[in-house]
Amino acid sequence: GRKFFVGGNFKMNGTISSIKEIVHNLSSAKLDSNTEVVIAPPALYLLLTREHLAAGIEVAAQNVFDKPNGAFTGEISVSQLKDSNITWTILGHSERRTILQESDDFVATKTKSALDGGIGVILCCGESLEQREANDTINVVTKQLEAVNKVIGQDGWKNVVIAYEPIWAIGTGKVATTEQAQEVHAALRKWLKDGVGEEAAENTRIIYGGSVSEKNCKELSKQSDIDGFLVGGASLKPAFVDIINCQG
Ligand code: 13P
Repeated sequence: GRKFFVGGNFKMNGTISSIKEIVHNLSSAKLDSNTEVVIAPPALYLLLTREHLAAGIEVAAQNVFDKPNGAFTGEISVSQLKDSNITWTILGHSERRTILQESDDFVATKTKSALDGGIGVILCCGESLEQREANDTINVVTKQLEAVNKVIGQDGWKNVVIAYEPIWAIGTGKVATTEQAQEVHAALRKWLKDGVGEEAAENTRIIYGGSVSEKNCKELSKQSDIDGFLVGGASLKPAFVDIINCQG
């Protein structure tokens, strides 16, 4: 079976003191051992988070660059994450695709660099409201993943968690219905089966993100193709623990 996976994406939120508090609360909470937990603070707080976080909870960057080192002002490398005991990175978040104009190919290149350097990737995909209304959802998300598949190949997927995050559900309080989410997750799994292989389809976690809360997580988690969550706003609150434990 696929281990349930809950990620917390803090985005550009937090201070030294608020992040210490979140990390302390998480470290002392009783967390379901059947859930893999990874939190992604802003880059500036990665080390602080790793230092104060209990063993067994992993830390993710929110982004990483595709070059090993050198004159790339403002960027962070995969080897620097490794050196700091940061074992995951989020890539392709819709906020980076839209606001920072990251292309499918750039996300794919960075995914390959992260995987080659031994960093796990929480790979985000998702459609806009316009694309959903034009019935283009499955086409959009599979194109985003296809770009990655072209460069990482079958083995790469072993260290990838796919996060389906419909843009219209992010930060809006407008969560996808269980049917809407399950439909896309099932389509993504079928795409994995046809486009990558049986094993990748069976083993790859596909998690949902977009207004996940302690109130809606239980129902979503019961869907056969939803293997966890990528949580934004609620990951900064005590309710994050309830989301981690939603299967109990
Ligand atoms: P919200 O949970 O705040 O909607 O954010 C979801 C998200 O973008 C996680 O990466």
